[in-house]
Amino acid sequence: QGRVVALLFLDLDGFKRVNDTLGHSVGDQLLQAVADRLKERLRGDDFVARPALDESGMHLARLGGDEFTVVLPHLEDAQVVGLIADRLQAMLAQPFHIGSQEVTVTSSIGIALFPGDGDDASTLLKHADTAMYHAKSLGRNNWQLYDRSLTTAAIRRLALENDLRKAIERDEFRLFYQPQVLAADGTIVGVEALIRWQHPEHGLVSPGDFIPVAEESGLIVPLGEWVMRTACRQLVDWQERGALVPRVAVNISATQVRGADFIGAVSSVIDETGIGADQLELELTESILMDPDLRRIEGLSRLRARGVHFSIDDFGTGYSSLSYVKRFPISMLKIDQSFVRGLPDSANDAGITTAIIAMARSLGLEVIAEGVENARQADFLRRAQCDKLQGYLFSRPLPAAEVEQLLLQGRI
Ligand code: C2E
Ligand code: MG
Ligand code: MG
Repeated sequence: QGRVVALLFLDLDGFKRVNDTLGHSVGDQLLQAVADRLKERLRGDDFVARPALDESGMHLARLGGDEFTVVLPHLEDAQVVGLIADRLQAMLAQPFHIGSQEVTVTSSIGIALFPGDGDDASTLLKHADTAMYHAKSLGRNNWQLYDRSLTTAAIRRLALENDLRKAIERDEFRLFYQPQVLAADGTIVGVEALIRWQHPEHGLVSPGDFIPVAEESGLIVPLGEWVMRTACRQLVDWQERGALVPRVAVNISATQVRGADFIGAVSSVIDETGIGADQLELELTESILMDPDLRRIEGLSRLRARGVHFSIDDFGTGYSSLSYVKRFPISMLKIDQSFVRGLPDSANDAGITTAIIAMARSLGLEVIAEGVENARQADFLRRAQCDKLQGYLFSRPLPAAEVEQLLLQGRI
C-alpha cells in the first residue's frame, strides 16, 4: 500500500533492580501494570498522535521479560513515530502504585521502519532491538531510530569477543599492580592487580573496553581465574625474592561470583599457588551485595573463615544499603575515586567521604580511598581517618618488575 510500518522495541530501564530490591512479585505486578497502561493509553483519546493513526491497526505485544513491542502498521508519515515514542516514554515515567509501593521506571525504545530498515519481521525486530541497545547505551530513557552503522558497531563487538577468546590462548593479557599504602606513614600494605590487554593490532586496551564484553560473553570466568592465579603466583614469587607484600587485591565481576563454581575456583588457586589465604583480597562490586542468595553468602563466608578478605570496590556509586553490607563477610570499603576527585573543596564530596568513613568505622570495617592524585586530597583523607590510600600520588599501576623495586623499599 506504499505505507510506512514502524516497529518499536521497548525495554524497561533498571527492571532487574526492581526485581532484586522489591522482589519478583512486585516485578510481575509492575509488568502487568505497564502492559495495562500501554494497552489503555495506546487506544485512549489522549494519545497525542492519534489523528495520524488508524487505531485498530496498532499492535502491542510482550516479547518476554521486560520487553514490549508496538507495531504501527499504517503510518502516513515517518515523523509521527518520534512523537509516539516520546508519548510512550512520558506515560510510562508516571509512577506506578504496586500495593503500598510507589515504583518509577523509565524505558528505552529502539525503532525500525519498513521498508527502509528491513522487509521482513525478523529483520525489523533485530534492527529495532539493536536500536534499543543503542538508546540504552546513550543513557536510557530515550528512543533511537535504527541506523546501519549500529549493525557495524554490533559486528565490531562480535569481532572483539572473538579476539578476546583467542587472547587467553595467545597469552596477550598482562597484569599491572598498583600499591596501596597506610595513610599514616606510606607503608605499602598491598597491591591491586589491574588487567591490561596487549592487542596485536590495537595496542594496549584498557579493561573498561573489554571487561564488559568478557562479562556478557561469559569469558570473564576463565579470564578472572587467570587473573587470580597470576596475581597469587606473583605475590609468592615476590615473597621468594624478599620483596614482601602483605596482600594482593583482585577485582571480581558480579557475573564471575554468580558463575558455576566460584568458591571452588578461589580455593584451588590458593592451594595451587601456595599463597596464604589471608594474603588474598577479593574486590567485589556493590551489585553483588544486592543479591541475597544465601548459598552464595555461605560460600563467601567459608572463604572468609579460611582467611580471604573481601572489599567493596567503588563504594558509594551503587545502591547497597547498610543491612546488605552487614550480611556479607566484608572487611573493607573502597571509597570510589569520583568522591575523592572533588576533595577537599567540594562540600558534597567531603561530606560523602566523611560519612562513608564514619559508617565503616561504626561497622568495624576498614576504609581505603582510591584515585588519590594530590597531597591536598591525601591530607583531607588522613584527617578524616581513612586507613589506607591508593592513587597516582603514590604510584601508577606498574608492571611487576617495577613494583618489586617499591616493595623492596617498603614505603612510598
Ligand atoms: P577499579 O578496580 O576501581 O580500579 C581503579 C582504576 O582507577 C584503575 O583503572 C586504575 O588504573 C585507576 N586509577 C588508579 N589510581 C588512579 C588515580 O589516582 N587517578 C585516576 N584518575 N585513576 C586512577 P583501570 O586499570 O583502567 O581499571 C578500570 C576498571 O576495570 C577497574 O576499576 C576494575 O573495575 C576493572 N578491572 C581491572 N582489572 C580487572 C580484572 O582483572 N578483573 C575484573 N573483573 N575487572 C577488572
Ligand atoms: Mg578495584
Ligand atoms: Mg574502584
